[in-house]
Amino acid sequence: MAATESPVQVTPARWEEIDRQVWLRMAAKAQRERLRAYRLNDDPRHWVVTSARHPDVAYEVTLLDGTLFCSCPASSYFPYCKHRALVLLHLGWLRVEPSASSPEPADRR
Ligand SMILES: [Zn+2]
Repeated sequence: MAATESPVQVTPARWEEIDRQVWLRMAAKAQRERLRAYRLNDDPRHWVVTSARHPDVAYEVTLLDGTLFCSCPASSYFPYCKHRALVLLHLGWLRVEPSASSPEPADRR
């Protein structure tokens, strides 16, 4: 396999196709930087997320058939970003599971 540099053009991928750990890391970063997500018109498909660098800037995040789009500059290069991760977190789709190691309940008799 050839590990080359990422191509400039990014094909939109369904958010589920991207590693969960990536989303969780991005969401943690978004929270650390105190980004805020707002649902536009109370529509779960349209969001704006504030910029960490510019306090008077927000980016538009759109959810379309399981694919997330963001208007931030990083989205030209990556199929994920902290803005989209924060939206997933708000939608409750990025649940942090405390004990994912044992699927069987421990108190089973
Ligand atoms: Zn973004």
